[in-house]
Amino acid sequence: MKIRTGFGYDVHQLKEGLDFWLGGIKVPHTHGALGHSDADVLIHVICDALLGAANLRDIGFHFPDTDPKYKGVDSKILLREVMRLLKEQGYEVSNIDSTICLQEPKINPHIPAMKTCLAEVMGIPEEDISIKATTTEKLGFVGKKEGVAAYASVLIYK
Ligand SMILES: [Zn+2]
Repeated sequence: MKIRTGFGYDVHQLKEGLDFWLGGIKVPHTHGALGHSDADVLIHVICDALLGAANLRDIGFHFPDTDPKYKGVDSKILLREVMRLLKEQGYEVSNIDSTICLQEPKINPHIPAMKTCLAEVMGIPEEDISIKATTTEKLGFVGKKEGVAAYASVLIYK
């Protein structure tokens, strides 16, 4: 059996009045993430970790932010496509671990809904998807509420 690990990191600015898409769901908040797509930072890091594990470049390579086709695109569509690319190479996902770095709002109450959503999109059990949340103790761009960051690591096998 071939086992491979992958890692993803991403950041988006927060702007007042935008929808805040995170983990495939809309989180109620005064601010949302800014980006060419729906700016779902959690889905982006999962995509990058999966692509990295399979050595298939990165999310910007497959879905360039210069392409009008991806303007405002639902990141769940990108994640489905990434899963298709992995399946094409014969890979299955073993598990995902992720961390969202955000000062506010509190993310913990939304994690079960994110897990349900991502499990459905990826076609894997919820128990194989871990989502954690942390503030940065009011330090840096996350702590100053200027942005949201996320990290993910994955294990894939074939
Ligand atoms: Zn992103």
